[in-house]
Amino acid sequence: MRWLRPLAITALCASIAACSTSPTGRSQLLLLSDAELNAMGRQAFSQYQQELPTAGQASHRYVQCIADAIVAELPAEQRQLDWQIRVFESEQPNAFALPGGYMGVNTGMLDIATNQDQLASVVGHEIGHVLANHANERASTESATSLGLSVISSTSGMQSAGGQQLMGVLGMGAQYGIVLPFSRAHESEADVIGLDLMAQAGFDPRESVTLWENMQAATGGGGAPPAWMSTHPGQGQRIEGLQGNMDQALARYEQARSSGRMPNCPRP
Ligand SMILES: [Zn+2]
Repeated sequence: MRWLRPLAITALCASIAACSTSPTGRSQLLLLSDAELNAMGRQAFSQYQQELPTAGQASHRYVQCIADAIVAELPAEQRQLDWQIRVFESEQPNAFALPGGYMGVNTGMLDIATNQDQLASVVGHEIGHVLANHANERASTESATSLGLSVISSTSGMQSAGGQQLMGVLGMGAQYGIVLPFSRAHESEADVIGLDLMAQAGFDPRESVTLWENMQAATGGGGAPPAWMSTHPGQGQRIEGLQGNMDQALARYEQARSSGRMPNCPRP
């Protein structure tokens, strides 16, 4: 039955003109409005901040410095989103980004990303999910094929079961215990976008591969894989994908450095 899904999306794309093209050229079904999604992102973000303990000022300054350097390189239209980033106190090496530009990084991720360039690859990847409208695409696809369009059209009932499910699909469901992994296609796309962004901001793109090696090493003890990794399947392929785009990223990086973009974000 798996072939039914792309078929259904193609049919919808042809009939309702809600199709868009992702930054890497995939066609996407986007049914929700940006305004609607961004408002939901903002709401979920303020909820996260109420429910989870945030880390101290030093960690916050460090992560903010990296995010600022990357956001400064975005096209004007995307730069104007309400980009915000917070560090949450949690050993789980996790990071997320919500529609609207609301991002979080756990202190556990700061232990695995051992320098500014590695952390920039995490932040770049998360920004990539936002730029490519992955939450909208996933919710639209789910709705088109299973949830039913009625869920999407009722924004009032976010506390209802359907609303909570929608929040989960959008990647905002942590507080409800519903977090769905992005697809492999979304992960690869966020990797490619993130790699380019970090390089353009003057962070060393080769460190993205080191981050994955650190992730792998962190699971060497046979424990449960870090959440960020377990929701990001296919590690070997991920590194290959990064390597495949490395020449282009290195060229961007050299260009950024020679233009004076040399971010210096001291690690606390
Ligand atoms: Zn991801």
